[in-house]
Amino acid sequence: IIEIKNVRKNFGKLEVLKGINLHVDKDEVVCIIGPSGSGKSTLLRCLNYLERITSGEITIHGELFDKRENDRDVHKLTASEVSAHCASLGMVFQRFNLFPHMTVLGNLIEAPMRVKHMDRAAAIALAENLLVKVGLADKRDEYPSRLSGGQQQRVAIARALAMQPQIMLFDEPTSALDPELVGEVLNVMKDLATEGMTMVVVTHEMSFARDVATRVVFMDKGEVVEQGPPQEIFTAPKNERTRMFLKKVL
Ligand code: ATP
Ligand code: MG
Repeated sequence: IIEIKNVRKNFGKLEVLKGINLHVDKDEVVCIIGPSGSGKSTLLRCLNYLERITSGEITIHGELFDKRENDRDVHKLTASEVSAHCASLGMVFQRFNLFPHMTVLGNLIEAPMRVKHMDRAAAIALAENLLVKVGLADKRDEYPSRLSGGQQQRVAIARALAMQPQIMLFDEPTSALDPELVGEVLNVMKDLATEGMTMVVVTHEMSFARDVATRVVFMDKGEVVEQGPPQEIFTAPKNERTRMFLKKVL
């Protein structure tokens, strides 16, 4: 469903991604782990046009999404292709970035109405279902500032789901949360995985990766160093860099 081929990304002279090859199949939950600065967020951002790759190619849903050579487009999407593509990917960041001037419900119905032209009643019905799913039905009319961090992040997940994406991307969704709030967000993500959502999750939560991932990808210094099923990566890593990293975090 996602195919990343030989993707490189430079910021000036800094090489942040050094030829990444990675695929994600339908229904997979791929957890990306690795040290700070290894390029995990940059890789996710390239899937959403938040960053453009320097070279390489990305195919999503079987369609060539981005192909570049030395910062030049080899394949160019139209603006409407970009926005259709971005609507098929839900993204949840470390910081919740909800719209502060809108209620929870307002946050959830905004994009479906504006981008997908869903009618208001249908958008509200969908939003209410999603709020039940993330356990926040009673917060429908609350403003984000009156919610805990864990609640805000669950709203952010519901908001991404309101666009009915085919893939969900998470970039350290729990790392800005107080420890006691982490579990409620991880539980919502676990439920999603159980329902068969295709997910790519950058995380420092090793127990989540171990329990939920179908595949764990270890990145270091802009490279995919090792990948495999969680039991293999966590109990018998083949690469020395993976071993060193896990020794520090486990
Ligand atoms: P963390 O675990 O801390 O979130 P990460 O693996 O997500 O780290 P990235 O955020 O992808 O790492 O950053 C990789 C490298 O790219 C870092 O050295 C960072 O400073 C650099 N970098 C990221 N974004 C930019 C930017 N917009 N301009 C210049 N350098 C950047
Ligand atoms: Mg990051």
